[in-house]
Amino acid sequence: MTRNLAFSIWCAMLQAMQPIIIPRKEHRISRKKVNRNVLRTLYRLRDNGFIAYLIGGCVRDLLLERTPKDFDIATDARPGQIKRLFSNCRLVGRRFRLAHLHFADEILEVSTFRADALSDESDMERPVPNNHKPRHLKDDSGMVLRDNVFGTPEQDALRRDFTINALAYNISDYSVIDYSTGLGDLREGLIRPIGDPYIRFTEDPVRMLRAVRFAASHNFVIEPAAWETLCNLSSTISRASPGRLYEEMLKLFLFGAARPAFGLLHISGLLAALFPGLSKWFGGNTHRLNIMNTNLGHFDQRYQMGISPSPSLFFAAFFGPLLEETALASHRDGIPSRLTRDAVCTEFIEECSRTVSIPGRVVSQLRSILTMQHLLHRVPPRRPSVIVKRPEFTDALAYMHLEGELKGEKRSALAWWDAFLSETPSSIITETPTDEAPAKRRRRRKRRAIRGT
Ligand code: ATP
Ligand code: MG
Repeated sequence: MTRNLAFSIWCAMLQAMQPIIIPRKEHRISRKKVNRNVLRTLYRLRDNGFIAYLIGGCVRDLLLERTPKDFDIATDARPGQIKRLFSNCRLVGRRFRLAHLHFADEILEVSTFRADALSDESDMERPVPNNHKPRHLKDDSGMVLRDNVFGTPEQDALRRDFTINALAYNISDYSVIDYSTGLGDLREGLIRPIGDPYIRFTEDPVRMLRAVRFAASHNFVIEPAAWETLCNLSSTISRASPGRLYEEMLKLFLFGAARPAFGLLHISGLLAALFPGLSKWFGGNTHRLNIMNTNLGHFDQRYQMGISPSPSLFFAAFFGPLLEETALASHRDGIPSRLTRDAVCTEFIEECSRTVSIPGRVVSQLRSILTMQHLLHRVPPRRPSVIVKRPEFTDALAYMHLEGELKGEKRSALAWWDAFLSETPSSIITETPTDEAPAKRRRRRKRRAIRGT
């Protein structure tokens, strides 16, 4: 029996099973924890005769009494019907239309229930008329390229990545609906893909990073068979788009669980596939691994205090020790240190961006954080009041603090800056807005000479 066939049978079995419904009195979800605009949207859909569910990660987090990052609403109303119901609605997406509801301070996404490619396998084989794109499309390896068909609430739940992300909250009776084994897995702290892990990770390799992220952020365990598959498939992560992988890196590392996420990435082989140069540098070197763990642990602690590192500070801490060491080796060969750092940084980031594309703005900030170090290390520094106005000053100083804590060095420079900052009005430091775009140059229109005059 082929894997796809086994998976289709498994899906059919799950769909044939009655979902478990937990009535309002028997679960811990309180509507007080749900954003007002989300509630209003759910009520309006319900009052107009549509099914309206909260679905995905927000239900998982509400059940765990955590604050959801965002709320996803799913309904049987078609995009056109949603648009007619909400005057603040804009439909987005060309292939699968999603409704965006624009409120004063946020945009909510409402999606119509969808089905998985395998719920309608016949569609893949059906001949497609000229100029019509098939609704489902997989490449030769099984990665889903297009997945675009409306479905039932069950199908919508079962096309999701993990059982704990497939729970729904039904606004019509405030019950929780479990179409798979989400509630049990939530109780046991298990990340379990819906269906065959091999197929699900192949369809979308980013799910491997999502598994690591949820395991790290929720202190859960990836179900053993899924973990084994993930380790075997780790090298395929590079097939995901570099832009999407960058976004996933931020979600993995900036939200308070960077250290455990790094550990899982490292042992699964995902790190080697994402950042081969960095992974090679770590090798089995426990000292280097300790440096990374200490830096990431520091970010996690700060996150608990409500402070997240900027992406550029994170990447500086992530790549910095390797870049510094490589630059030092080249510097010994006689090249000036600032130029060496720049060159090493450029070469390394170019190599990385084949897999994970770090935006140019973040790369230039990261470069400034590293190249500013020699200015900060001098005691006393030259023209400190100019240095503090540089947009990357705060991050560069935070980087020096990290290094100082690690190596027990640069104490005098750090103390000098601490003293200087305590005496400097903050208005001076924040004078230059960090995100200010360079003023646009006005293009002068050249007047064409009129022929014949
Ligand atoms: P977070 O707390 O980070 O927002 P989340 O689980 O809500 O976690 P989202 O990226 O907001 O994650 O996605 C919302 C839901 O969409 C998920 O809970 C899951 O049901 C579904 N989903 C997201 N990405 C995928 C994917 N790659 N494959 C299948 N389902 C997905
Ligand atoms: Mg979410």
